[in-house]
Amino acid sequence: MSAVRQSSALPSAGCDDLPVLRERGQREVFCGLTGIIWLHRKIQDAFFLIVGSRTCAHLMQSAAGVMIFAEPRFATAIIEDRDLAGLADANDELDKVVDRLLKRRPDIKLLFLVGSCPSEVIKLDLSRSAERLGRQYGPHVRILNYSGSGIETTFTQGEDNCLAAMVPELPAATPGEPGLMVVGTLADVVEDQLRRLLQGLGVPEPTFLPARNAADLPPVGPDTRFLLAQPYLAETARLLEERGAQRLAAPFPLGAEGTTRWLKAAADAFGVSPERFHEVTDRPHQRATEAVSRYRDALEGRSIFFFPDSQLEIPLARFLSEELGMRPLEVGTPYLHRGIMDPEIALLPAGTDLSEGQDVDRQLDRCRAATPDLVVCGLGLANPLEAEGIATKWSIELVFTPVQGYEQAADLANLFARPFDRRTRLEV
Ligand code: SF4
Repeated sequence: MSAVRQSSALPSAGCDDLPVLRERGQREVFCGLTGIIWLHRKIQDAFFLIVGSRTCAHLMQSAAGVMIFAEPRFATAIIEDRDLAGLADANDELDKVVDRLLKRRPDIKLLFLVGSCPSEVIKLDLSRSAERLGRQYGPHVRILNYSGSGIETTFTQGEDNCLAAMVPELPAATPGEPGLMVVGTLADVVEDQLRRLLQGLGVPEPTFLPARNAADLPPVGPDTRFLLAQPYLAETARLLEERGAQRLAAPFPLGAEGTTRWLKAAADAFGVSPERFHEVTDRPHQRATEAVSRYRDALEGRSIFFFPDSQLEIPLARFLSEELGMRPLEVGTPYLHRGIMDPEIALLPAGTDLSEGQDVDRQLDRCRAATPDLVVCGLGLANPLEAEGIATKWSIELVFTPVQGYEQAADLANLFARPFDRRTRLEV
């Protein structure tokens, strides 16, 4: 929560017609620890050790409350309150927890120490801990650290920090050998579909960051082009660019049109002929368009208001307006990275209000005044809004569900149709 409460309507940099309301007030967003829930499913031999408090443990347990049946791949080392003189003990305790964990779980190949925001954790230097422990357990186990603290990160930024921590580990690509890297956690089924499409186009064999196995680190260098599969990876993108890679600007692969444009960016970068592009994409594009159109009756003309949460808000608003005829009123995002988001913003309908950051009370007032048909927001706001009679969609569901690519486009549309369907059934 920030102490500064101000809001201002400013024209955004490089934006021709869309002003951006920037707010720096109280916000209602999950912290970056939440990303562990999808990251641990993706990197199958990694373990996420949260160095945190009981609050962090409770958050993770309730957000991921499904893990009781499996051998979990995340846990919380609870650091109790202590003064600076007790720091040596805290480091010893952390070392002991890591030692016990790695002895019991030889399958772990990559261990993340994940920082949090309690003051007793902030006093610990987790990068030094990771170095110290890395010397002890490497090369069999690599140990990295990043922060998921609620002071520094919102919701999806935890993934950005995690992937950014991996970038220095990536091997150098062979000079002169073109490469294509897809960056951002994708469900395995989506990764496989996108890989097949890219292979069909004949671009260089795509690599993925993160990959399913911790050892599969994609090479990076000046001949590497990368496509973001998720919009919240600004720091990871910056670090890849520092290593010489070039980001391909594109909308995100949400919906039939978003997926086609995303693939087109790769095709154009590697000189794929228009004939081949159509050959590969026309049929899946048509199938996706037809499948999405089944939800048009339920959604066309309905208005939608996005509270800032996952940073997926702008691509979602583009998909819903372009392919389903919904009317975005205000589209809030925690951070607006113009370089990454401009291709999406250009596709939003005129009259869409963009906002960055949050002052939750003011935004709630704007939302009530706008009387949207559907609100996309975090869990904390959904129940009160539902109680006021406003239909809501939990933004967390949009991050946990595979929604990218052609085959998932209809599922994505259905996620937005469902709240209306539920209401209709409740009213009957
Ligand atoms: S990191 Fe901070 S905001 Fe997140 S659960 Fe722990 S205490 Fe709460």
